Amino acid sequence: TDPIDMTPAPRPEDQDRALRPQTLADFVGQREARANLRVFIESAKQRGQAMDHTLFYGPPGLGKTTLAQIMARELGVNFRMTSGPVLAKAGDLAAILTNLDERDVLFIDEIHRLNPVVEEVLYPGMEDFALDLVIGEGPAARTVRIDLPPFTLVGATTRLGLLTTPLRDRFGIPTRLEFYDVAELVQIVERGARLMGAAATPDGAQEIARRARGTPRIAGRLLRRVVDFAIVEGDGRVTQTLADRALTRLGVDRLGLDGADRRYLRLLAEHYGGGPVGVETIAAALSEARDAIEEVIEPFLLQQGLVQRTPRGRMLGQRAWTHLGLTPPKPAGQ
Ligand code: ADP
Repeated sequence: TDPIDMTPAPRPEDQDRALRPQTLADFVGQREARANLRVFIESAKQRGQAMDHTLFYGPPGLGKTTLAQIMARELGVNFRMTSGPVLAKAGDLAAILTNLDERDVLFIDEIHRLNPVVEEVLYPGMEDFALDLVIGEGPAARTVRIDLPPFTLVGATTRLGLLTTPLRDRFGIPTRLEFYDVAELVQIVERGARLMGAAATPDGAQEIARRARGTPRIAGRLLRRVVDFAIVEGDGRVTQTLADRALTRLGVDRLGLDGADRRYLRLLAEHYGGGPVGVETIAAALSEARDAIEEVIEPFLLQQGLVQRTPRGRMLGQRAWTHLGLTPPKPAGQ
């Protein structure tokens, strides 16, 4: 991939870019984050300065990219986008930074995956709006500092814990995004259906929202699939019956868990008596990357109380046994 390609890469689940909310007012949920951002955006505009660097962290699909785009739009500046793994060399980042206009928003997705050499370039960039270039080699090498236009770095990460402390400390506005509740997801599904020109009954929208794993991206994807079923096998309307049938066929259960979630829970229940089990063991047994387990599967299971994290490993929550229709083993001595 071209490291300086700044156009947002189309994501397979996000072909319909019209679905992305364009303003803070259109953005549903994340009430606290939204209220704070509104203040910081307004203040930066009134001062005529670049907004402070902002870090969004939380599970995938909760709106980090969307909020970064909204910030740029509300600030009236350009939105530039790249990602940690794409910036292989210091020069890749230098090229981007020197091409920014004053007060632009530079969005770096997966910022926890920045190469340390590139990260070093970012520090003076963020702190002093300066770039330290090394010219020449060996004893003759010297550093030249060049000024950058003031800009706003917006970082996004699914793994706050993997950010180095110096990088983390350079963000003035760290913002945690939370899973959405069902009422918020209903609004998102209804808005999506409207934009797609599909008719959804209130209980149809509710059914999709309840099974979207607290995540707008998943809500959008499930909506598109249910609409497919509605068109081909129904009368085009997204009703509760139709949504239930379609989602069940897609392997999404009543709690919104998918096949990977259930494999995880079953492994703990059937092979480890409910745990505790270390995450490495789980990853090996499921043939999944540990990162994927920690970033994608576990956050929702933890939030739902289906799994608990203990110092000795993961344990199944009571609710998971019930959901799987299994009986937990009796504690020793009873
Ligand atoms: P992230 O960057 O956190 O992975 P995105 O910003 O790419 O997530 O959002 C994923 C999808 O969910 C996008 O299609 C976006 O339009 C939609 N989305 C996210 N948050 C909201 C929201 N609050 N309201 C409506 N749609 C949202």
